[in-house]
Amino acid sequence: MIFDIKKYTIHDGPGIRTTIFLKGCPLHCQWCQNPESMSFRPERLDRPSRHFYVNSPWVTDRMTIGKLISVNRIIDEIMKDTVFYKASGGGITISGGEPLAQIDFVDSLLKVCKKNRLHTVIDTSGYADWACFEKIRRQTDLFLYDMKIFDRKAHIKYTGVDNTIIFENLEKLIATRAKIAIRFPLIPQVTDAVANMRAIGNFLSKNKIREIDILPFNFLCYEKYNRIGKRYPFRSSRTTRSRIESTVKEFSKSGLSAKIEGWA
Ligand code: SF4
Repeated sequence: MIFDIKKYTIHDGPGIRTTIFLKGCPLHCQWCQNPESMSFRPERLDRPSRHFYVNSPWVTDRMTIGKLISVNRIIDEIMKDTVFYKASGGGITISGGEPLAQIDFVDSLLKVCKKNRLHTVIDTSGYADWACFEKIRRQTDLFLYDMKIFDRKAHIKYTGVDNTIIFENLEKLIATRAKIAIRFPLIPQVTDAVANMRAIGNFLSKNKIREIDILPFNFLCYEKYNRIGKRYPFRSSRTTRSRIESTVKEFSKSGLSAKIEGWA
């Protein structure tokens, strides 16, 4: 079950990529930029909207988000752009939602990608059984791995799930020598507390991670919430350049080099 395929993406791994967005996530982050990614089922819009993918063949119709699709159909689409992947060092990224929540599909897709010598990236919250990582890690060239909130109770409050397994899986994944890029969503009044950044920075530093990608908050997704009849609690929140700069400084205290993704 997917909710979009985006071509020519440049923030989901190296080079020019095709990103597949799988629908469904076990987390319900209150700030999620893609509210349509959470449910594992197709969702009806209140009316057609340019903010959803109404011109995309990956929606069922102008009023529904989410479509069942086969591995072969996706591969046909991906392979149309191999010339761009080769020229840029790009490939395919499987994102969501949470891709590991549809592990058999992801495993099949990765295997076919590898047969076609494509560079593969998984964009994950880390919230999955370790067996899922074991199943796909050899076919995955890079994991984009989210670190959101260190405090367990706060993590439950803002995402709906315990974070213990997320930290455990990251430690196990590091031990396999998998290539990992850590991503930190900078959410005003939630993840941007100094104590949170310090705790995450220390955890990563202890595990010999030296880099972190900061994903600045973007409030514009509130329109999408409206369309599927949900309220966006962060509608009036904003991130400033100085807040981003202080975040970079804070992580540097833990020995992390911070890179800012997608900030204009
Ligand atoms: S893990 Fe990602 S996709 Fe899932 S709810 Fe959180 S922000 Fe949204």
